[in-house]
Amino acid sequence: MSRRAQFLEVLGIPTEWVPRKPMGAPQDAAAEPDRPAVVLAESEAIAESVLAPEAAEAQAPVAVALVPELEDPAPSPSIAEPARTASVPDREAAIATMGWPALDAAVAACTACGLCETRTNTVFGVGDREAEWMLVGEAPGENEDLQGEPFVGQAGKLLDNMLGSLGLARGRNVFIANVLKCRPPGNRNPEPAEVAQCEPFLKRQIALVRPRVIVVLGRFAAQSLLRTATPIGKLRGTVHSYEGIPVVVTYHPAYLLRTLTDKARAWEDLCLAREVHDRAGAQA
Ligand code: SF4
Repeated sequence: MSRRAQFLEVLGIPTEWVPRKPMGAPQDAAAEPDRPAVVLAESEAIAESVLAPEAAEAQAPVAVALVPELEDPAPSPSIAEPARTASVPDREAAIATMGWPALDAAVAACTACGLCETRTNTVFGVGDREAEWMLVGEAPGENEDLQGEPFVGQAGKLLDNMLGSLGLARGRNVFIANVLKCRPPGNRNPEPAEVAQCEPFLKRQIALVRPRVIVVLGRFAAQSLLRTATPIGKLRGTVHSYEGIPVVVTYHPAYLLRTLTDKARAWEDLCLAREVHDRAGAQA
């Protein structure tokens, strides 16, 4: 059985399935769960909200709502404390120099945004910390919050099967993380200021893993990471860049569980990611 056939079998669709639109055709923003897309504005705005998150929320939001996505130093006290007590350079610079143990501890103790008050567990991320592949999702859901691990439950199983079709497995050769490390209550949309507070952690994780390719799962994560308002249908099929690392965008597994017609597109996205990964390996 071909790799494509194996993948489609995992997804539960016949191999003879034909997309409604040609591959790469633009899709509207409602192609993914119909929550408002969020996009960060300027990096300066992010820094402003890190310095004074409450003030940033009260003034101009750093995101706009769109149409209907070494040796470790000891953890810096400024990271675990509310961000309003730390300067922007202090907080971001401290995170940017952390090794894994310090970063792990800083996330576990973080109270930089209001999500710390309602979380059960922080969800740091899971997998091979020297992986060539990195997957980035949006934020923990209910099960993830309870278990402290990203992508558990049915969506997690589908993701694991998709990874398996590429010869990847969590805990072995891929690292999986979210933009946000704490669950938004009731699975509401993450607030721009929350994203701004949490992004330095993800940025540092990516810098430490140094993957050959990042696969971004879902509209919110893609638009946050790439700082764009472009719908996911238009972000797919193109290789983007985050901190110099190639990024491929695909749908969130939870969305794929509900939307049969877009499942084959996810396979195309992963094929593109594999191409990018192999190309990066050849250049290494
Ligand atoms: S979501 Fe991120 S910034 Fe907010 S408390 Fe959790 S770890 Fe800290």
